[in-house]
Amino acid sequence: MPTLAAVLDLIRARGSVSRVELAEATGLTAATMTHAVRKLIGLRLVHEVGTVPSQGTPRRLLGIRTDSCYMVGIQFDAYTGTGVVVDVAGTVLAQRELPAPGMRSPADAIADIAETVRLLLQDAAVPRERVLGIGLATYGPQDREAGILLTPQPTPEWQGHPLARTLSEATGLPVSIENDATAAGIGIQTLSDSASSFAVVYMSGGIGAGIILDGHPYRGVTSNGLELGHISVNALGAPCDCGNRGCLDRVAGPTAIVEQALADPELADRIERAADPLTAFLSIGRAALHGDRAATELIATSTQRLAVATVTLVNLFDIGRVILAGRAFTDIGPVYRDALQTVLDEAIFMRHVHTVQVELAPDVTQAAAVGAATVILRNLLESPDTT
Ligand SMILES: [Zn+2]
Repeated sequence: MPTLAAVLDLIRARGSVSRVELAEATGLTAATMTHAVRKLIGLRLVHEVGTVPSQGTPRRLLGIRTDSCYMVGIQFDAYTGTGVVVDVAGTVLAQRELPAPGMRSPADAIADIAETVRLLLQDAAVPRERVLGIGLATYGPQDREAGILLTPQPTPEWQGHPLARTLSEATGLPVSIENDATAAGIGIQTLSDSASSFAVVYMSGGIGAGIILDGHPYRGVTSNGLELGHISVNALGAPCDCGNRGCLDRVAGPTAIVEQALADPELADRIERAADPLTAFLSIGRAALHGDRAATELIATSTQRLAVATVTLVNLFDIGRVILAGRAFTDIGPVYRDALQTVLDEAIFMRHVHTVQVELAPDVTQAAAVGAATVILRNLLESPDTT
């Protein structure tokens, strides 16, 4: 049966809608829908916005109460970060770039994130008592329930750091963590009302993936599924920090492509090598777009390998849409989209049954932060106290 979140999403997508239309759209009985709507009204997320004539009693229309509460979403990895404030309708009220953690300690990075949250809430001018919490989208491995990172990246102090607890203490707001690629999938749902089943290929500091099936994220047993960057594309390849060999991220991710660029003295002179690997990667992408041959070859290497791994992803899940998200797809995203489309058209197992559409997210940079914010509202709607 559809969750309260699904009913809320439907009201959001329709703008204003009657209980009868909601029941018809979901297949729920009128009595069940009346119960769900009563819950949403009780949470002050939905209100009556008017009536339309009908045989007998006029139908009362429902709409989202956009000013009822707000959520903060933060995406960060070692090289980049974005923060947003989102209302119940999914509208982004404020956005800021975060100073990337880089090689700094968790304590320093979290102080920066807390300051960004303060500035975001100031920008959005929303009452603090109506802020439900902060969703934090970041890389893995992670213990989502405990709010802990389980990796020594980018520095050993991050291993086991209680990220959710320390940010909550620094801001006075509840904090939940989420895998960044999964968060991007949830964000794409928020930013485009039509997306119910699709795969996300996420590329920022590293490569990841997420799956949304029938509107629900697939997280795996411990929320560490779909680690596309750590599937092997060469069984005899170099060992990776994750424990596997020949990982996709080590041959196609931004860090790997920048390493290859720096090994070419002429190309190295033409990219922003003083910057972090993601900024340097973006400059390689721009050089390729301007016709630089060496940069074009490196980007082609990355797209080809990512495409082969995406064929595996599609073959495993038999999915009809692949959506690209993450800051690495800024500028160069259309090149990746077109290259992946060409390879998928030729190589996916189920191509004689259906095609697979490759698209760019509505906002490749914002998607994960918007999704992290949306997770906070979904957590409220899915909590046993609410349902
Ligand atoms: Zn690996």
